Amino acid sequence: IAEKGESLRGVPQVSYEDIGGMSDEIRKVREMIELPMRHPEIFEKLGVEAPKGVLLYGVPGTGKTLLAKAVANETNAHFISISGPEIMSKFYGESEARLREIFKEAKEKAPSIIFVDEIDSIAPKREEVTGEVERRVVSQMLSLMDGLEGRGKVIVIAATNRPNALDPALRRPGRFDREIEIKVPDKKGRLEILLIHTRNMPLHEDINLEKIAGSSHGYVGADLEYLCKEAAMKCLRRLLPEINLSDEKIPPETLDKLIVNAEDYQL
Ligand code: ATP
Repeated sequence: IAEKGESLRGVPQVSYEDIGGMSDEIRKVREMIELPMRHPEIFEKLGVEAPKGVLLYGVPGTGKTLLAKAVANETNAHFISISGPEIMSKFYGESEARLREIFKEAKEKAPSIIFVDEIDSIAPKREEVTGEVERRVVSQMLSLMDGLEGRGKVIVIAATNRPNALDPALRRPGRFDREIEIKVPDKKGRLEILLIHTRNMPLHEDINLEKIAGSSHGYVGADLEYLCKEAAMKCLRRLLPEINLSDEKIPPETLDKLIVNAEDYQL
């Protein structure tokens, strides 16, 4: 698994079933991205360009990256993930060349999805941009997007927590002209996310996920995932005294005791 901010390429292993509380967003993404990728002929017949760029916005940890990966997987598209800060710092001095390479790779391996996380750090409003380098990177990004054919072969998905901090030039027609808000999940959404992150966990019958969903107001997907992992770790710690590290194999009767219970799930 790539570290956050590290480039990631290939077809991701995430599907829509791995995303909770986002049925509206998934429907929009299917219409805006999957449809043109699978059936460019519809757009050709209508005489309109397929979208080239879609902006996902919402607070961190709500699943923007997850959604982008799932679309790439469902459309069997080549997925290239980059992050704004990575482009600006890791490739400092070569940022524009790096962007050109990424777009070239995307065209060669099409259908492709380029995912740009934290795009606001590449393309903040120009009045906020101080350096010449940043200005050149923004221009390069815009011209690369303008150079895409708009036939659904290469689609750029960008994510940001601060949509209003973006250079408005990026949101003009033919660029990121579609937007999807990724909301903080409601109770039903939180329950769906909890069900996803506990599907491979042995849960005691005293656990009431609906109750946990009800009392975790404000938790986003990443928080709920963390909560589930922590519960598993608490369960493990409880049993640790019974585990003999030098045993070649943990006895099945000990493994059977690894059951996450309601106490492990403390909000
Ligand atoms: P950031 O803005 O910090 O990049 P993000 O919105 O892209 O955040 P992700 O990186 O997709 O969020 O989410 C982090 C992790 O949290 C995911 O890998 C996933 O395990 C979990 N997660 C987040 N949202 C959801 C969700 N809606 N359903 C299931 N899991 C989720």
